[in-house]
Order: sequence, then C-alpha cells, then structure tokens
Amino acid sequence: MDTTHQMLDVTGPATATLSVGDSMSPITVIGTESIRESFGPQTYQQAINSRLAPGVSRVVLNPDAHVGYGAPVGCVMVSPTHVYPGPVGVDIKCSMSLLQTDLPADAIEEHTVRRKLIKAIAKRVPTGAGRGQRHVPKARSVDGSLGFRVATEGASKMVLKKLGIPKAWADRCEDAYHTAADGTSDSLAARLEWMGRDRDKLNRIESKYRQLGSYGGGNHFGEAEVVQVSQDPHARQIAEQIGLRHNHVAFLSHCGSRGFGHDLAMGQFRALKSSFQKQGLAFPAGDPQLVYAEADSPEGRLYLSDMAMGANFATVNHLLINALVLESFRDVFPGIRGELIYFISHNIVRREPIDGQTQWVHRKGATRALPAGHSQLVGTEFEHTGHPILLPGNPRDGSSVMVARPGAALSAFSVNHGAGRQMSRTKAKKNLSQTTIDQDLLDHDIVSNCRVYPRDEAPDAYKDFREVLDSVVGADLAMEVARLKAKFVLKD
Ligand code: 5GP
Ligand code: MN
Ligand code: MN
Repeated sequence: MDTTHQMLDVTGPATATLSVGDSMSPITVIGTESIRESFGPQTYQQAINSRLAPGVSRVVLNPDAHVGYGAPVGCVMVSPTHVYPGPVGVDIKCSMSLLQTDLPADAIEEHTVRRKLIKAIAKRVPTGAGRGQRHVPKARSVDGSLGFRVATEGASKMVLKKLGIPKAWADRCEDAYHTAADGTSDSLAARLEWMGRDRDKLNRIESKYRQLGSYGGGNHFGEAEVVQVSQDPHARQIAEQIGLRHNHVAFLSHCGSRGFGHDLAMGQFRALKSSFQKQGLAFPAGDPQLVYAEADSPEGRLYLSDMAMGANFATVNHLLINALVLESFRDVFPGIRGELIYFISHNIVRREPIDGQTQWVHRKGATRALPAGHSQLVGTEFEHTGHPILLPGNPRDGSSVMVARPGAALSAFSVNHGAGRQMSRTKAKKNLSQTTIDQDLLDHDIVSNCRVYPRDEAPDAYKDFREVLDSVVGADLAMEVARLKAKFVLKD
C-alpha cells in the first residue's frame, strides 16, 4: 500500500477525499477499499498534479482510474476558466453507443449464426489500427466534401441523410453536434479550410475522412449482447422507458474520432507546448501533458474548435457504425428493427453547471451522469429518468446500463467509463496465458472475430467488474437498470 493511499480520508463505503492543502477543496475519490488501493502512487500523483494546476476547481478520481496522459484515465477535472487538452485525451470523444434490436436472444444461440453476423459486420465496418472504408467491400464511401460537412456539422440532417442514418438517432446522442466557441459551424469551416490550405495537408485530412465508419484498434470493440433487465420494479420501469428489451439482442460499440481526431489533438499539443516555451511558461508539475489555455483566449478558442471537429467526427463515426451494424444484422435476419439507446462520450470537455456556476468539465475516461430532473435534461426524453449510462466491464463478466442518482453531484455528475485497466499491456502480455483466455471465453459462450484473442485485452487485464459496480452503487452515484451479457466480440 502506498503512502498517498494512507493519507485518504475515508467518508463512506465507497468514497474518500484526498487533501491537497487547506485553501483547496480536496480530491474526491470514488471506490471501495480494494479499488482505492488499486490506483497506486502514480495515479494519485497525477490527480494531485491536476488538482494543483491553474484554474482547477475540482478533481474526481473514479473507480476505473489508472495512469494516463497528464491526468489519470478515469478522472474528472473541473475549471471555471481553463481548458486542458491532456485531460480530454488524444482520442477526442472516444465514446460508447448501444443499439437495441427486436431480435430475441434465442436467435443467436447457434455459433454458426454468430459467425455469419461477424462476417456480415466485417464486410462493412473495419477493425484494426489505421483501417478505413477502403478495406471493406460494403462501407459507405465518404468523399472530401461530405467529410468536411461531417467535421463541421456533426450529425446534421443532411449528413445523416447522405449516410443513411435514421434522423431520430440524433436525439439519442449526448451531443449530436459541436460548434466553435462562438456557437457557429461557420468558424469551424473557416478553420478546416485554413488547415487544408495546401495539397499535402488536404490529402492527409481527406485520407482520415475515409476512416469514417470504422472501429480502429486496441481497446475499441463491437460486442453483441443479450439484455438482462433488472428485477427491481423501479429499475425495470426505467429500462423500459429508455427502450431496453429484456432477453433481446443489443450491440455495444466503443470507438472515437480515429486518425482525424488524433491529428487534431496532436496538433493542439504541439501548438500549445510551443506557445508555453516561447513565453517561458512552466508546465503544471513540470508535465507538458498538462499544458492548458484560458478558454476565452485565442489559443483556448482554437483548441475548442479543433476538439469540436474531432467530436463531430466521432459522433458521426458511431452513428454510421450503428447503421452499418443494423444493416449487417438484416443480412442474416431480414426485417429486424433497431433503435439507438444512447451514444455517450468519455473523452471530452463540456460546459456544465457545477457547484453553482458554469464550468468546463473535463471527463477523461469518465462518463457524464445527469440524474432525472437535471437542468441539462429538461425538455429531452430523459428528463424524468436520467440519460442512459453505458458502462462496459469486460466480455466475460458483462457490462451495465445505469442511470444517475442525485448523489452523482458528488462526482461532478460523472461515473467511470469502464472497469479500467489493472494490468499494463506489457504486463498482461507477459502474465496472461493464451490458452486460459481462449478457454475462459469459450466457457462463457463468447465467440470472437480474432484468430488470436489479444492478451492485453483479456478480461483479467481489467479490474474486477463487481468491485467497480459496487463502488458506483456504494457511492450512490448511479443505479443499474440492465446487465449486458456478451455473445460475440469484434476486436482488432
Ligand atoms: P478505454 O479503453 O476507453 O479506457 O476503456 C474502455 C473500457 O471498456 C475498459 O475500461 C473496460 O472496462 C471495457 N472493455 C474493454 N474491452 C472490452 C470488451 O471487449 N468488452 C467489454 N464489454 N468491455 C470492454
Ligand atoms: Mn479511444
Ligand atoms: Mn475509450
């Protein structure tokens, strides 16, 4: 046990605080005793660095916290004045989405049927790093002018129509589109035109547009699920209200803004770092990954524009994947219906009311959790239930759909975005046995598209999902309305 862990002030079964000085509100730590121990000294140090950084008013560590880029993955950082690209992350608007079909679970019991579905999806949605629509025969082709509109307009009516995505799905997005700081998409268009001012730059941007409708590699995945709605009458009622169907097939997707968002994020890191160096400014805790800008400065506004374009790309990427997945299911089961339950990000900064003022809420590997009645849900279909929270665990132990409780105010209206890694990729590759992993998935009746399942993505590379859920519920942040049981997984 490290010394930081011993310095925590335990405030409940799954909550603690970490003081960083008398004049500052302490860091909020969410997690049971064993989860809090799992964080380790470097994660705590990154949280302390983030809390002490300029303009920061609050930091929350969630149960999935582990070492990240500047700030831990699995943390929330709040500021009334400043934006921090590190605590947004390089995969801008990496997100989860859930598609509910009307296909009964029995229909995919046979492994041969699951294999057919995997094949149908693989014809339309590429997986793997650097892969895009050129690599599959039935992708939607996205040319330069459509790519431009995707980046600047997000899920606009025109973009959805051109890509054959149901327009009602825009209402099921945490945000269907993002604008520049001045509230317009025109400023994004001007910025993107400026970026593509020479042929080489334009070619690079347009090559990234062609990744639209793809998962990418590593931790990104698509997973067919059987929905198991909670037995609790109140939870069941909410599950039904948000559109979940007990014992029917759903599909969970995890991916972000691909190379397009990555290039924008890296460009911003370079620009901000060099502006710090030119001005002789020190990085917080000496860490260049904690570089920042005042939101209302020229640098801050440029960062927010680039983040908005990355976020627009991620949004349309998810919606397109969901449309293509539904189309694939229809290859095998003609006429089935599917509706998007929700699309929610875990790498983004948003303006939200926190502690009585509007602040910049950075969620880095953290998911927004607004309970019923929250001012930002008024007038949406989730006003009386809270919006769906998609919380993946791992394929073997399942994933969860939750809604926030009023107690989520404690965590700046956020919960963890998954179970979080407990082993680094290197450690997982070294310690986990391929035979055990393959047998484990087989024993749990899970089929995958991988010839060799990646060891660094094995269920045991992630924290104990039960302990993670106990942390969320124990801290009274959210309640579970349904559990998802994996039937097949698409990875790398
Ligand atoms: P990220 O990679 O964005 O940090 O986290 C994604 C989260 O998804 C992880 O913390 C982990 O709990 C979860 N996860 C990773 N791979 C899979 C998978 O194949 N299936 C499911 N259901 N969850 C996964
Ligand atoms: Mn990602
Ligand atoms: Mn992610």
